[in-house]
Amino acid sequence: MTDCIFCKIISGEIPTKILSETIHSISFLDAFPLAKGHVLVIPKNHYQKIQDMDKDENADLFSLVHAMTSKVDSMTGATLMAIHNGKDAGQEVPHVHVHLVPRSMGDSAGPIHDMFGPASKLSESELDRLFDKLKI
Ligand code: AMP
Ligand code: ZN
Repeated sequence: MTDCIFCKIISGEIPTKILSETIHSISFLDAFPLAKGHVLVIPKNHYQKIQDMDKDENADLFSLVHAMTSKVDSMTGATLMAIHNGKDAGQEVPHVHVHLVPRSMGDSAGPIHDMFGPASKLSESELDRLFDKLKI
């Protein structure tokens, strides 16, 4: 996609610090890191969402996530791994990317639960409805 920042990184139009490259994916340093060592892992082809990806490319992406996680985790000993899968989920760059962010005690970011209000208890019938809707 011509106006996609990450496609421009792939094509070399926007310079970046590429950490590793596989047949279908690359990892690089986030330009505006949430913590020192914030890394992004992306597919070379443009897809907005994980489920849009070809299975081989998806397997390649998560294999690189697996390899990069060891490196990022060695920074502080804990890593937040996140994907904003769609605009309403917080995705600003519409090209699949996995965030790997080193976490540490006292960084004040908190757990994922802090992003939402208090968890609600669902009835058995609501759970059954969701189960029927989501099972594969
Ligand atoms: P998201 O909000 O999940 O779409 O995340 C997009 C990420 O891309 C943010 O963490 C940005 O800091 C990062 N980003 C934006 N432009 C660049 C760039 N030119 N090089 C590296 N990272 C970038
Ligand atoms: Zn793109």
